Amino acid sequence: QKMKKGQTPTKNVQVCVRIRPVMDREAKEAIKCAKNDRTITVKGKIYGPFDQVFPETTQQPEVYDKVAKKHVELVLAGYNCTIFAYGQTGTGKTYCMEGGADKAYSGNWKTDPNLGIIPRAMEHIFDTLEAEGVEEYCVRVSYLEIYNEELFDLLAANHEEGERLRLFEDPIKKGSVIISGAEEVPVQTREEVFKVLQRGAERKRMASTLINNRSSRSHCVFVVNIATRETTLEGEELVRQGKLNLVDLAGSESIGRSGASGARAKEAGNINQSLLTLGRCITALTTNAGHVPYRESKLTRLLQDSLGGSTVTTIISTISPSSSSFEETISTLEYSCRAK
Ligand code: ADP
Ligand code: MG
Repeated sequence: QKMKKGQTPTKNVQVCVRIRPVMDREAKEAIKCAKNDRTITVKGKIYGPFDQVFPETTQQPEVYDKVAKKHVELVLAGYNCTIFAYGQTGTGKTYCMEGGADKAYSGNWKTDPNLGIIPRAMEHIFDTLEAEGVEEYCVRVSYLEIYNEELFDLLAANHEEGERLRLFEDPIKKGSVIISGAEEVPVQTREEVFKVLQRGAERKRMASTLINNRSSRSHCVFVVNIATRETTLEGEELVRQGKLNLVDLAGSESIGRSGASGARAKEAGNINQSLLTLGRCITALTTNAGHVPYRESKLTRLLQDSLGGSTVTTIISTISPSSSSFEETISTLEYSCRAK
C-alpha cells in the first residue's frame, strides 16, 4: 500500500476551492456551487471544474481527509509536497491551515473539530510512524515568514530583532535551497509540536502588533522534514526523506490593488509579485513549459525543491459566500483556474 520511491504520483497539481460560512450581518449568500460537477457559479458565470469544491458546510476533518491526507502519506514515502491556502483576507486561509482561533492547540487534538491541517498532519505523521513501528525516524519542523520579500524565522529566539534569513542554492544537492540560520526543531511528541506551534503563533502576534495586520500581508510557511531509516529483510538499508510545506499565503486582495502609496504600495507590489510568480510557476509546471520562474520571488525560491518534478502540490482557494466580496471572489477563482 505504501508508495515507494520512483513510483510517480498521478497528478502533480490540484486546485480545490473552499467556501466559508456566511458571517453575521454579512450580505446574504449569493454564490452557487454545484456539488457534483465541481464548479462554482458567480453572477451567472461558471468557474471550474476544480479538483474539489467544499461548500460552507464542510468541516475540518473532511478537508483533511480529502486534501491533506494523501500529501502526508507521500511525504512519509519520501516525496516533497506543498499545500497552499490562497485567497482574500478573511476567507479562511488560516482557519484551513491552523484552525479556529485559540482553540486550535488545546492539546486535545483527536477530538477538536476546529483543528486545521497543520496539527492534523502532525498527528497523522506520529500515528503512522508509531503504528508502522518505523525503526528510526526524525521529524523536524521550522516555521518561516516572508514579509516584504524578506525571510524571517518564526521560531528564532531573536525574532523581535527581525533578523533576516538568507537563502542560497545547495552546492551539493542541485535544485535545493539552504536557509542559513533557520531553526529546525526536532519534535518527538505531540506536546513538543504543540509548544512549537504556540511559539510561532506568539511570534506572529508580536509581529502584528509592530506592523498592523502584518500576518495577512505575509506568507507563513510551516515546514515538516521527515527522515526514516529501515532495514529490509535482505538487510538493505532503506532511507527516506520527505518534506511537507504548509503555506498560509498573504491576502490576495493586494493583486491589482491601486491607490496605495509609499511603503504600502511597495508592500502590495511585493505580495502581488510573489503571488503572480507562484501562479506562473504552477502554470509552467502544469503545461510542462521548459522554464519555471522560481527565482522571481522569495516564496518560489524557498519552495523550489517542493514544486515540480516528482512533488505534489495542492492549492486550496478560499472564498467568501457574500455578494459584497464578489470582485475578490472572481479574482480568486480566475487565479485558481489559471493554476490548473
Ligand atoms: P484569513 O486567514 O483568510 O484571513 P481566517 O482564517 O482568519 O481568514 O478566517 C476569518 C474568520 O472566519 C475567522 O474568525 C475564522 O475562524 C472564520 N472562518 C473561516 N473559515 C471558516 C469555516 N470554514 N468555518 C467556520 N469559521 C470559519
Ligand atoms: Mg490569516
